[in-house]
Amino acid sequence: MRYLILSDIHANWEALQAVAEAASSDGYDEILCCGDIVGYGADPNPCVDWVRRNAKITVRGNHDKVAVGLEDLEWFNPAAQASAQWTSEALSAENQAWLQALPRGPIPVTDFQILHGSPADEDEYVIQLAEAAVAGPYLDTRVSFFGHTHIQGGFLYQRGVPRRIQPVGAGKDRLEYELDPDLFYLINPGSIGQPRDRDPRAAWAIYIPEARLVIYRRTTYDVRSAQHKIIAARLPNILAHRLAAGR
Ligand code: ZN
Repeated sequence: MRYLILSDIHANWEALQAVAEAASSDGYDEILCCGDIVGYGADPNPCVDWVRRNAKITVRGNHDKVAVGLEDLEWFNPAAQASAQWTSEALSAENQAWLQALPRGPIPVTDFQILHGSPADEDEYVIQLAEAAVAGPYLDTRVSFFGHTHIQGGFLYQRGVPRRIQPVGAGKDRLEYELDPDLFYLINPGSIGQPRDRDPRAAWAIYIPEARLVIYRRTTYDVRSAQHKIIAARLPNILAHRLAAGR
């Protein structure tokens, strides 16, 4: 079984299309989505339509919640607030209802699980090793996929102590990462629509449980078109600029 793991699409249709195409040529059986389909980008409806049609399981992200009124705007910075307001007006009634009904992670898949933020709290960020250490005891399965940080990689745990996984480097578009059956893993496929690890390429992953293999991937896409749409929609300019920098 080959799972295509997607996270933090953030209404970036150009990035999602490029990843869908690359993933089709790699081959996969089922799609899992770790949340934040909307927010920041200018194409919330095409992205939600695509995930609704294609993903087997999706957990909600904080931007999905805010866009459909399940969470207050007050924790967002001004650019995120403006995009959340714009997104909630742009979303079709059908897509609003679908986002509203998304489950909170973690959600078990088979013997692994998917979630958005931390296994302890869907809205918490797991970026630093100290945060990974706090999250560790909440991991119910040996392998978990998460998002929220927009940083590809994640953590492995040896006797409860986390270490960072180094993902795909510059100049490469894939990294095959073998999992040790005795360890725990909190794996981040990275962000499709707004990478923040200084690599502007869309980030995603394939998971093959039988082979104990995660394939981290990066895919170039038409950043310019995504930026133009953000500016044409009168969303904050920063949301366009940061796509080119990958941060
Ligand atoms: Zn996000």
